[in-house]
Amino acid sequence: MSAPLITIERARELVLAHTHPLGPERVDFDDALNRVLAQDVHAVGDVPPFACSAMDGFAIKDGPAGRTLELVGESKAGTPSDQVLHDGEAIRISTGAAVPEGATAVIRQEDVDAGDQTITVNEAVEPAENVRNPGEDMHAGTKVLSAGTVLHAAELGAAVAAGLGELSVSRRPAAQVLSTGDELRAPGEPLGPGEIHNSNAPMLVALCTGCGATALPPQRLRDDRAATEQALAQALEQSDVTIVSGGVSVGPHDHVKPALAALGVTEVFWGVSLQPGKPTWFGTAGDKLVFGLPGNPVSAFVTFSLFARPALLALQNATEDAPLDQEAVLATAVKRNPNREMAIRVRLERLNGSTVALPNGPQASHIVTSLLGADALALIPAGEGDADAGTRVRLLPLAR
Ligand code: AMP
Ligand code: MG
Repeated sequence: MSAPLITIERARELVLAHTHPLGPERVDFDDALNRVLAQDVHAVGDVPPFACSAMDGFAIKDGPAGRTLELVGESKAGTPSDQVLHDGEAIRISTGAAVPEGATAVIRQEDVDAGDQTITVNEAVEPAENVRNPGEDMHAGTKVLSAGTVLHAAELGAAVAAGLGELSVSRRPAAQVLSTGDELRAPGEPLGPGEIHNSNAPMLVALCTGCGATALPPQRLRDDRAATEQALAQALEQSDVTIVSGGVSVGPHDHVKPALAALGVTEVFWGVSLQPGKPTWFGTAGDKLVFGLPGNPVSAFVTFSLFARPALLALQNATEDAPLDQEAVLATAVKRNPNREMAIRVRLERLNGSTVALPNGPQASHIVTSLLGADALALIPAGEGDADAGTRVRLLPLAR
């Protein structure tokens, strides 16, 4: 890493400059959750499509209390009455049922005395009372959702109500997670001397999935040049984004960089002025993206959040969301790194009208528990001494 380190901001710019949206595909609603909409959604017709009742009660003509009306029929949800309502008449109606022609209002069931074939109206009724007008929610042609929106529960409900049967969404990136290290053991496996559990693999798979990617089954690689090159070749063929953890430093057993070079993956950057996450590597092979993330779990998590997450979102044409507050005030002093910007995990709290960032425990790159309950990353510029309590710091999203 002899070249000067680049800033976090520059590294993020470079990643986005090399990331091209994957394009759209059509899906039905069963496959639409958490996808990024690739079309605007306009209401096909009015919603609701017809004047309907907001209450269980009786369709009548508006007017004063004290009237006794003849019960002449019923309008049920899904089965409208075909009768025309005249003066002196009432038609029983359910919530969501069409208001019969001639009726101008609905009176609630609780506001009448029901006889055998009559009702007596106990309240005065205004015109249109308890009637939902056609188009009250959406008028035909109204734009309901914009391209780029992530489809959560409310968006799915609104799109179905708008009359759509399927949606155009961005294709999901396929992501291959590779963990390098002879020391790695599978979750739950007993540890031999010098071994540790492979915490990065499930974490990075979850982070990819959380960004809308389809994660291929993760693979563990021994610190072996040939095995590394073979696995990377397969990953490049099968996925849009390859995420390798570990093995990108300068140790004698770090084989990822030479293997990528041999496979013709072009290095865009190696080395970011960042703690944790200095030896982050990023490169491309055509439209395929490769991230070499440092092996320490916190470094891998933080560098995924800062660099891989924006790319996975951009591949789906989704704009990266910012934290609710873009800045916060440090709750305690933080010792700065003289040479590198720090991305510390913080919890956010509101205090006296401003957002306060509390460092979430010890910040070393192997302390996985510093990720638990963290709300965001706070950026601490490089410098001597401390960033004092009260310093304003920028926030960036921590992936989940
Ligand atoms: P490396 O980047 O390969 O030099 O690894 C840096 C540190 O991260 C070492 O302490 C590794 O044991 C640790 N490490 C590497 N990969 C993983 C992993 N998949 N899960 C947990 N720790 C890891
Ligand atoms: Mg290693």
